[in-house]
Amino acid sequence: MSLYIEIPAEFFREAREKCHPDVECPALLFGRGNAVETWRWVENKTASATQFAIDPEEMYRHLREAEERGLQLLAIFHTHPGPPIPSAVDVRHMKLWRVVWVVTDVYSWQSAAWIWDNRPKPVEIKQRRQPEADDAPA
Ligand SMILES: [Zn+2]
Repeated sequence: MSLYIEIPAEFFREAREKCHPDVECPALLFGRGNAVETWRWVENKTASATQFAIDPEEMYRHLREAEERGLQLLAIFHTHPGPPIPSAVDVRHMKLWRVVWVVTDVYSWQSAAWIWDNRPKPVEIKQRRQPEADDAPA
């Protein structure tokens, strides 16, 4: 398995508009293979600046919707009020959700991606500049 994930640059543009230091800002990234095609911003149920939690029903709804479109959950995104390194809590959840974890520093907008493989292993982020094929006819 090659350790990279392709994410549309548009996603990070949206993150800069949507996310702020008051609340960690989660999103679910869906696609095929290593390429993210679409994403859903989700509510942080903790409303915390240093933690996040996603409502299981909201998670389930997005997973179902993606599955119906033939897409998989490729990554879980959230912001940190600091370096984009998984916290101890993140690591616990990374073990449960074996997808790529994308973390962005909400101040510097530096991003890093990780996947659990006996430890948080770095994943390269390739930003894709092309417009989305999301709404193109199948
Ligand atoms: Zn975190």
